[in-house]
Amino acid sequence: MFEFCDVALPVPLDIVFTYAVPDGMQPVVGGRVLVPFRQQRMSGVVTELHERKPEVRTKNLIRVLDPEPVLDQPLLRLGKWIADYYLAPVGEVFRTMLPLGAEFKRAISYRITEEGQLALHLAGMSGSSARSQKTPEDQLAEFRALDYLAERDTTREESLRSATRVSKALLGGMVRKKWIAREDLSEAQNAARTVKVALLKNVDGKLNANQRTLTDTLAAAGGKLPVDTLQSLELPRTSLATLVKRGMVEISEEAAEFTMSQLKARPNLFDFQFNSAQQAALKSIREQVGATKFAGMLLHGITGSGKTAIYLAAMRSVLEAGRSAILLVPEIGLTPAVAADLHQLFGEEVAILHSALSDKERAEQWHRIKRGDARIVVGTRSAVFAPVSDLALVIVDEEQDPSYKQEEMPRYHARDVAVMRAKMADAVVVLGSATPSLESYFNAKKHKYTLLELPDRVEKRPLPEVEIIDMRQEFQETGSEQVISRKLAEEIKERLEKKEQVMVLLNRRGYSPVVLCRACGKTLECKNCAIAMTHHKRSRRMECHYCGYTAPVPKACIHCGSEYVYFLGTGSEKLEELLHGMFPQARIGRLDRDTVRGREDFERALNALDEGELDLLVGTQMIAKGHDIHGVTLVGVVGADMALGFPDFRAAERTFQLLTQVAGRAGRGQTPGKVVLQTYFPGHYAVQYAAQHDFTGFYEKELRFRSWMHYPPYSALANVLVRSNKMDEALRWSGILGKWFEQTRHEGIRVLGPAAAPIVRLKQDYRHHFVVKSASREKLNALLRAMLAFAAQQKIPRTQLIVDVDAVWLM
Ligand code: ADP
Ligand code: ZN
Ligand code: ZN
Repeated sequence: MFEFCDVALPVPLDIVFTYAVPDGMQPVVGGRVLVPFRQQRMSGVVTELHERKPEVRTKNLIRVLDPEPVLDQPLLRLGKWIADYYLAPVGEVFRTMLPLGAEFKRAISYRITEEGQLALHLAGMSGSSARSQKTPEDQLAEFRALDYLAERDTTREESLRSATRVSKALLGGMVRKKWIAREDLSEAQNAARTVKVALLKNVDGKLNANQRTLTDTLAAAGGKLPVDTLQSLELPRTSLATLVKRGMVEISEEAAEFTMSQLKARPNLFDFQFNSAQQAALKSIREQVGATKFAGMLLHGITGSGKTAIYLAAMRSVLEAGRSAILLVPEIGLTPAVAADLHQLFGEEVAILHSALSDKERAEQWHRIKRGDARIVVGTRSAVFAPVSDLALVIVDEEQDPSYKQEEMPRYHARDVAVMRAKMADAVVVLGSATPSLESYFNAKKHKYTLLELPDRVEKRPLPEVEIIDMRQEFQETGSEQVISRKLAEEIKERLEKKEQVMVLLNRRGYSPVVLCRACGKTLECKNCAIAMTHHKRSRRMECHYCGYTAPVPKACIHCGSEYVYFLGTGSEKLEELLHGMFPQARIGRLDRDTVRGREDFERALNALDEGELDLLVGTQMIAKGHDIHGVTLVGVVGADMALGFPDFRAAERTFQLLTQVAGRAGRGQTPGKVVLQTYFPGHYAVQYAAQHDFTGFYEKELRFRSWMHYPPYSALANVLVRSNKMDEALRWSGILGKWFEQTRHEGIRVLGPAAAPIVRLKQDYRHHFVVKSASREKLNALLRAMLAFAAQQKIPRTQLIVDVDAVWLM
């Protein structure tokens, strides 16, 4: 029996916390425990059991939540590696690895103390307390809360706040003044199974209205519903209990249901012969998997070369060997066809973790995997933490995709974590892409990864011909700014007449991206960000694409009152309207974040195109991602080179990748495809190499630039961002850190900054940043660690300092 246990808690502190283990409790390393922390209850993961009595007095564990570890030794090790590599608190890392938040019910309540009663009484006599620095509104809210509590016993936080509109901060202050006492009875519960209510046949006898509502709802749903759904009817609990007592309904626990997309599976999944390149690639993956030791492989196959078929075949052999595999896909990369194929191939043995799952569904899938019911896992970023045992193979599809990088703490890159997880598990990792990241291709060239190439499309289908349209010249020749060039219009018309399909990419959503006043020259900016707001015509509002803030469409300039406000530029919504005007007969669909709420909308649009119900699909980069629709013979690129103007060293790489991906959507069937690429940068090498389908050419040119500028893959890079909603504070902190960087001797490390971040204000925060680069990752890591320690000393809050190791965006 150990006396103490160390617990990693999800708080922004780089330490673990020691608690005493009361008699009879048996926490396990890797299991969760419930502990008191400050004024709250929190669940954390046990990292160590020991006998070392700490200096300070320890509190007791409240409860052991898991009798068995939820994170096994390899996942614990992986979590610690992430914490170290990305300089993230280990408790936050573990929380990210365990999607079990739905199992934790928060239950915080308050009651009034004697001091509180007295304060209320005095306030009643004098009107207000004179010493207070608070605004009158805050004081009123405080007394409303006291008044409310005085008439009740312990009250739940939600009820108190909704009844009195008192803020969390004020409640905290009142606790400190000892006016109210806070109690936290948060509890964990098991969500592994869904509790369902089933209607039994013999519904007779008298029912009251509430009971009737319940039985009717059940009958309408076919007799069975999850208990949560019934609870959302907000009927008294006793109604259900009575029905149970009278034997009219039955409550049962069922293993979580597995819902698959409603797609027809392809009957003949592998009715083709793998070509020789595919065979060779599959053979070497299988050999490496058989060797049960770590191997990294980069599968570089052009668009339409049959990479997915290789993934599926490799995963099938892993399953046949009784082992496990994980396939990572980008944000919406999981296309309907692939989902259907997966289900057909692996049946109940596959768990799909897509972004549209609720917390509860995610927890359910997690338990299916942990129990060993599902040994094939397919999912986005966080699926890299799936608790499979005997991991044999991890595949990262579209490994260059920026959505693999988590843009909040912990800022891990799922591709790099996948490589590390495979290493720790003696497994094989396969990174797949038509346009590998510079980092991965560089590693393959240096023989850290085996390079597998698929240089041709399946059945020797040709890559589409790409025609570049210089939009500056188009402007000169037509005398006005064009959205759709004459050439593109002509090509679209031709395809539509031949009943072929067209896709048009414009990587910007909304109607007009800029509202400009002709009188004073100012634009309409978001009130929280230094970003122009976008006009959305259908929803009749202005929207900030960075923070989500919306505002009414202005009739006059908000700066000078002039009526001469102009809506400039074109987004996908306006493009759709323009195309409607040009081709009134065509059936046009649009795919962007305004039309796609969840995965189902995405599936529906792609299905409609696949089934021939649409002639033309307009969209943002969403339409460029890995789907395989055979009827598309023309791809128009109307705007995809905006990024080339951004101050980000990855702008060229990203543009090259997007252009290659979207071009890859053309000509995937029997008829060869064509791409019309409109650009304002016709001479830029990213555009040129994409048009020539020349990955190696681009890669070599870009590498020279990276080497010369000491950018990745030639150096490790971190972006250090200082933020505050007070302008002078952000400035002062970045000044303090700037001096420190200057004074600290650090050989072999380059520090750029402090400088205003390219987006100088975001979500109400003013932002300054440093870019830190070094050929040695150890040195970089050590310097950043020292910087964090110094910042803590200077009382710069950890939450206001973002350390982004291997940053993907420098904006
Ligand atoms: P990629 O992911 O490389 O772009 P996919 O894996 O989507 O390519 O393959 C493109 C299409 O070709 C899919 O419909 C797939 O079923 C089919 N396919 C794959 N391999 C072959 C093959 N050897 N012969 C014929 N068709 C194939
Ligand atoms: Zn104005
Ligand atoms: Zn904003």
